[in-house]
Amino acid sequence: GRGGGDSGEFRRARVLMGTVVEITLLDGGAASDAEAAMEAAFSAMAEVEASMSAHRDDSEVARLNAAAEPVEVSAATAEVLELGLRVATASGGAFDLTLGRLKALWGFDGDAPRVPSDPEIAAALQGIGPASLRLAGRRVTKGDAALRVDLGAIAKGYAVDRAVAALRAAGIRHASVNAGGDLRLLGDHGGRPWRIGIQHPRDPQGVLVTLELADAAVVTSGDYERFFEVEGVRYHHILDPRDGRPADACQSVTVVAASAAEADALATAAFVLGPEAGRRLVESRGGLALFVAADGEVSLSEDLKDRVRRP
Ligand code: ADP
Ligand code: MG
Ligand code: MG
Repeated sequence: GRGGGDSGEFRRARVLMGTVVEITLLDGGAASDAEAAMEAAFSAMAEVEASMSAHRDDSEVARLNAAAEPVEVSAATAEVLELGLRVATASGGAFDLTLGRLKALWGFDGDAPRVPSDPEIAAALQGIGPASLRLAGRRVTKGDAALRVDLGAIAKGYAVDRAVAALRAAGIRHASVNAGGDLRLLGDHGGRPWRIGIQHPRDPQGVLVTLELADAAVVTSGDYERFFEVEGVRYHHILDPRDGRPADACQSVTVVAASAAEADALATAAFVLGPEAGRRLVESRGGLALFVAADGEVSLSEDLKDRVRRP
């Protein structure tokens, strides 16, 4: 049956890319087959997961990571690598999709995360950086066989974009796709903007602000999403490639941009750069940003101010 009751909304949730993905169709009833549109959107995301996950031995990223020779990847993976490398360059290396070894060292994906020693961190930083990955069409060459690519900061956003493209192709014009904080809105909400609650980084039940938006991607990166604590110190999963440790300038960054892949990459980059340099980066690429700095101070792009409602 259909979810959403009398409102005409049609909603489905599925676990993909390590998070709960919720898709809401507002005009599902007008589409020839809403159920098929939903299925197409979820399978587009599953395809992205299958090729870009670093955890699956059979993914393209795993194949690239294991290879010593150049590797031919799919058009989708090449597109994500290209965007990632562009954001890496624009951010001066704050965004870095070659830090796979460093991420594995901290163990955020396993069940035994730990604080590595300084020499371990130095070794994992050896030879990384956007210049160590060359992309020519769909051919990827690693500067060093030991280089490990991690698309964790961009692939989820890209998958959301693919889902939205699938919905569009199926005739849907008003929908939202939310992959655990990576969100994209298709069209508006009954002639009005959608109202998107942005999570308060220090209050799991609290809403920091509500954003009124249509036809946009909204992605949040926060230090509260994945972390462990040792002796009262929080170690989270957004790493500063300059010192190999969790970036410490922000509690959370929300980016509004045209695509979720772009917003995802920019949110991670801006988190590392901090409120000032981060805002300049996001705005230089046509996006808008909302920061909660490490001390809790909230700042945001001028052009975002008229879309903000207090919760
Ligand atoms: P989330 O996974 O909660 O959506 P992000 O989009 O910020 O958060 O992605 C964080 C993930 O990106 C990490 O788990 C890691 O895989 C990878 N990552 C961590 N630091 C960086 C960085 N500086 N640049 C690029 N990717 C990073
Ligand atoms: Mg990201
Ligand atoms: Mg993300």
